[in-house]
Amino acid sequence: MSDRFLPFALPDIGPGEIDAVTSALRSGWLSSGPLVQEFERRFARHCGADVTAVAVNSATAGLHLALEALGIGPGAEVLVPTWTFTATAEVVVHVGATPVLVDVEPETLTIDLADAARKVTDRTAAVLPVHFAGRPVDAAALAGFAHAHGLVVVEDAAHAFPAASAGVPIGAGASAATVFSFYATKTITTGDGGMLVTRNPELARRARVMRLHGFDRDGFDRYRSPRPAWHYDVVDAGYKYNLTDPAAALGLAQLDRAETMRRRREEIAGHYREAFASLPLDLPLPAADGDQHAWHLFVARLRPGAPVGRDEFIAELAHLGVACSVHFIPLHRHTHWRTRYWLTDEMFPVASREFERVVSLPLYSAMTDEQVTLVIRTVQKVLQ
Ligand SMILES: *Cc1c(COP(=O)(O)O)cnc(C)c1O
Repeated sequence: MSDRFLPFALPDIGPGEIDAVTSALRSGWLSSGPLVQEFERRFARHCGADVTAVAVNSATAGLHLALEALGIGPGAEVLVPTWTFTATAEVVVHVGATPVLVDVEPETLTIDLADAARKVTDRTAAVLPVHFAGRPVDAAALAGFAHAHGLVVVEDAAHAFPAASAGVPIGAGASAATVFSFYATKTITTGDGGMLVTRNPELARRARVMRLHGFDRDGFDRYRSPRPAWHYDVVDAGYKYNLTDPAAALGLAQLDRAETMRRRREEIAGHYREAFASLPLDLPLPAADGDQHAWHLFVARLRPGAPVGRDEFIAELAHLGVACSVHFIPLHRHTHWRTRYWLTDEMFPVASREFERVVSLPLYSAMTDEQVTLVIRTVQKVLQ
């Protein structure tokens, strides 16, 4: 990797990860096996005492399985913030339901529950909040909203491992299900992968069945059960959403370092907040009291008085060797969602306005101190 260009994101892969994957490859078990089961057990323990974790090959798959297991289908509406990745809405379509997009809070860019309340109808079945950038959505406010309207909550926690709201780890709260992502750029990675976490054993059982073709037992159990190994029964038309053992080996090694990596991101975010305090930037809020922020992203916003606009800012930083990104282009700005549901900017005033000025700066635990300094100096150069 050239030291003259800092990528926007890089995974943090150490010798422990390399060794773990190598021994998984040597074990001869390349699909879902003992390491997936161990990864599920240890991930569940990380989240809380009585949760079940179901490993999948992406968060998208996990969200799909959660909605399917909850029986959300044709005729149902699901509230989704427009400020998210398209996966959050596409899974609603995949179960035959309708995503209803909701505007976001100006400070946190997470779902605006007042706007969500205005969009509740007698068909609304669920709400799918996103812990944007790794900063937890207020669990009490969310649970209160869901209770008031009789809605099921499925949390998109793709950015939020490890994080906690009011001392409770994300995944261990009151929601029906919580789904984490282990995509290459997320806070821990298995290359591609995800985890569905739930307190509901019936939901977990259904997700396990549908995760692997609707089999009545998974591939690994077939070799451990007293029934003959060749025997299985297909009880539904399922999906192919299982995680592999080499990926789980990587996940286990990352899990061991998750809190260390989170602290490094928090430290970098602290350096940025200090260094940028007097620049024409609105900086991301730290965690609320009693919360823990996963610091997946550092999303700053250019003030109207800044010497450059957002697009120019990103272009200048790239020119000076620092890659940035934008999270997110709101869903209502994408052709498919805009035209399918006749959406306009006026329906989402906060997201439409904030989108024009957001920029995500590099924030990952593999960054060296010199690279953090490079980002700081470069941002200062462009904005002073
Ligand atoms: C990355 C992401 C997803 C999808 O995660 P995959 O593991 O890639 O399926 C879903 N929601 C949000 C908010 C994300 O950022």
